[in-house]
Amino acid sequence: MGNPLYDRLFGIHAGKDTPFLLLPDGQTITHAAFLDTAARIANALNGYELEPGDRVAVQVEKSPEALALYAACAQTGLIFLPLNTAYTSGELCYFIENCGAALVVCDAAKQAELTPIAEAQNARLETLNADGSGSLMRRALGMLPAFEPVKRTEGDLAAFLYTSGTTGRSKGAMLTQANLLSNAETLVDEWRFTQDDVLLHALPIFHTHGLFVATNVILASGGSMIFLPKFDLDDVLRLMPNATSMMGVPTFYTRLLADDRFTGDLAQHMRLFISGSAPLLAETHERFEDRTGHRILERYGMTETNMNTSNPYDGERRAGTVGFPLPGVELKVTNPETGEALPQGEIGMIEVRGPNVFEGYWQMPEKTAAELREDGFFITGDLGRVDVDGYVHIVGRGKDLIISGGFNIYPKEVELVLDDQPGVLESAVIGVPHADFGETVLGILVAEPGRAPDLDAIMASVQNQLARFKHPSQLIVLNELPRNTMGKVQKNALRELYKDMFTAD
Ligand code: ATP
Ligand code: MG
Repeated sequence: MGNPLYDRLFGIHAGKDTPFLLLPDGQTITHAAFLDTAARIANALNGYELEPGDRVAVQVEKSPEALALYAACAQTGLIFLPLNTAYTSGELCYFIENCGAALVVCDAAKQAELTPIAEAQNARLETLNADGSGSLMRRALGMLPAFEPVKRTEGDLAAFLYTSGTTGRSKGAMLTQANLLSNAETLVDEWRFTQDDVLLHALPIFHTHGLFVATNVILASGGSMIFLPKFDLDDVLRLMPNATSMMGVPTFYTRLLADDRFTGDLAQHMRLFISGSAPLLAETHERFEDRTGHRILERYGMTETNMNTSNPYDGERRAGTVGFPLPGVELKVTNPETGEALPQGEIGMIEVRGPNVFEGYWQMPEKTAAELREDGFFITGDLGRVDVDGYVHIVGRGKDLIISGGFNIYPKEVELVLDDQPGVLESAVIGVPHADFGETVLGILVAEPGRAPDLDAIMASVQNQLARFKHPSQLIVLNELPRNTMGKVQKNALRELYKDMFTAD
């Protein structure tokens, strides 16, 4: 018995002088050097009287040392718990209390803010600072670069990750070593990653996309990453010639397309572009293919399950779909009221089962029991359907479903019509309370730069194309849609903003 997570993602690279992290300033960190730092950090952690299974809450800027801390947690059996760098004091207070952290790690710049929060939990607080000035790094640098991994099994918890909080308060998803390993190894095969891959990595590492998809895939394949602190267009355009592949959220692709410097030539040599975390508009898909000749590969996953589906590497990457269930993942579409499987093609709740599905929500037994069935199927909260060829289509979130006068309305159906209108860049459709109908449809538009959409003409066109109960009661124009760091539209914020629009006297 060893430590499968450490052995299969990190230990396999012991002694390799091949590049692992390529930094924007031209510095290269080899696998061996990275593992030395991780082992030094593991030795430092070992002196803090922590037990395997203790939570290490980490709020630090993206850096090689932050990633080494992830490896060190795997090595010491501590539960790695990365927190969004945008969280405010109030949010940090909630998460650190909620997870019962034994150790809080932050950058020195956050020390004053986090000290009282950690103290209130009796948690130890250490600073990481990449330049070696932080208390944890200082201690680590004085340690030996070798550490015998603590014994663990695949069933042991490896990480907690809080969900993005798009539909309500974030929940702590408990992930086992097996959850992380099965996904990483499946994705390496599906997406054909090898040690020759150089992934352009501009995602945050506090979210499942940047950490448990992008980073773990590179670790499992032995490839390397161009490790950018954030998606900076200048850096991305400058360094793309050195990459073979990129993973991003849809906004990365729209931002690339909006820049004339992003030419087909620049993307020519690339092997693969992958998108996820939010829906990729069919229009972005087409424009990207027109510009570069590459078809983006869209996939679908979530904090609780890592990746569920992917468009095929070989074969048709179908726009507007998230492809097929990954090997080992079972997916079914059920009636949200009864839980019974629906006939092929019908829209319903997407449920998934497989080695990727998490253990449950931390300290939320009722929510866990309501969403994780005894037979292992997880009720994702996403509505979708499977087409005749087996491609999965995500229709939207169950919580975004609008029920108006007793009719079900899928916002995406109305958004697709609005997105197609002249002068409209994008749209969001929400349900807002209505005195007569319970809820009614509100259409929120963002105009293309320099255009003023003709709202009367758009309303007339929508009325022509959709059944009456789906017609928006009103259309409004915003400068931009509220989005979180992963590019997800914050419909909760929009609903809050317009909740009194049709109920006030
Ligand atoms: P919360 O669960 O706290 O409300 P969240 O669901 O946004 O937040 P994540 O786990 O980060 O938190 O996101 C997973 C969700 O992102 C999925 O359930 C799905 O709604 C959406 N998603 C991911 N990939 C895609 C995709 N390719 N197309 C459409 N939606 C996607
Ligand atoms: Mg969710």
